[in-house]
Amino acid sequence: LRLSDPVVDNRISVCVRKRPLSKTEIGRREVEVVTIPNKDHLVVHQLQSKVDLTKYLENQIFRFDYTFDENSNNEMIYRFTAQPLVKVIFDKGFATCFAYGQTGSGKTHTMGGNYTGKKQDYTKGIYYMTANDVFKMQQSPAYSSMHLSVVCSFFEIYGGKVFDLLNKRACLRILEDGNKSVRVVGLMEADVSTPDEVMQLIKKGNDHRTAGSTSANANSSRSHAIFQITLKNKKDEVHGKFSLIDLAGNERGADTTSADRQTRLEGADINKSLLALKECIRAMSMNKHHVPFRMSKLTLVLRDSFVNENARTCMIAMVSPGNSAVENTLNTLRYADRVKEL
Ligand code: ADP
Ligand code: MG
Repeated sequence: LRLSDPVVDNRISVCVRKRPLSKTEIGRREVEVVTIPNKDHLVVHQLQSKVDLTKYLENQIFRFDYTFDENSNNEMIYRFTAQPLVKVIFDKGFATCFAYGQTGSGKTHTMGGNYTGKKQDYTKGIYYMTANDVFKMQQSPAYSSMHLSVVCSFFEIYGGKVFDLLNKRACLRILEDGNKSVRVVGLMEADVSTPDEVMQLIKKGNDHRTAGSTSANANSSRSHAIFQITLKNKKDEVHGKFSLIDLAGNERGADTTSADRQTRLEGADINKSLLALKECIRAMSMNKHHVPFRMSKLTLVLRDSFVNENARTCMIAMVSPGNSAVENTLNTLRYADRVKEL
């Protein structure tokens, strides 16, 4: 790792990942409107029409800490985002990694990994890779004498409520203690000591997440999923925590005008939490004393990720490459641009 790595140096780093066009999109003759000219720039090409109806191509250029094109894989994304932050939790800090973007842009593929049926076809995601490196570091000479143990939790926030993905989607309460700590009461903390055990947890949690996606219930794209890897000391106190978050899809514009009341409420709730997240990250990057973490349940449960003095955050903004997604893509990039370190 270079010494001047933005992920390590900055409290906040922001990267973008562009996924490849899917078979269906190619079938629909979608045109790619996003290009990545080098490792930290991204260009959106949008066809605009003039008053006299002649068309021209407008290029909007964005710059981030890293930009990853459609040929990148989960290992590469991991190496430049979450991996440099693993050390933070061994140094009593809080590391956080968010996947942000519209539904279908690749958040779950990147964070949770992807099963394509057969076990051998499983693409590992950032949850798994992070846990794997946590175990390696736990056993390394530098840290093994600290006798830290590892526990994992996995829950989702939907409609302002917390559901335990490791315990039958039990609905849990959030409690703000007098000493300013925030905890989810009764959240399952699974003791884990091998990457294989973590893999089982990810599977179990993902199954619960999609099982909850009936018409009357949370669609997984409408909930925030939070996978936490916590280090505990011999007294069972929290030593450090890594939070990995697969955010709800940000394409809410249509929902807030939907005829269906439930859909409207969901859309409003997601908008509120993503706005709160932006405000909290910005407050953090400006070293502000006041962080508005009570603005949403999402930011409330992540309080320590914003206020701890040894907190590091990275955001991976996911974008779809096609022309029909260009408005959502631009919204995602503008949001990501706003949370960059100031
Ligand atoms: P999201 O969680 O943002 O809604 P998904 O992760 O479910 O999106 O991705 C949508 C689809 O695109 C899935 O079928 C997934 O397998 C595929 N996909 C996403 N990112 C990639 C990628 N980088 N390479 C190949 N396929 C991808
Ligand atoms: Mg998803």
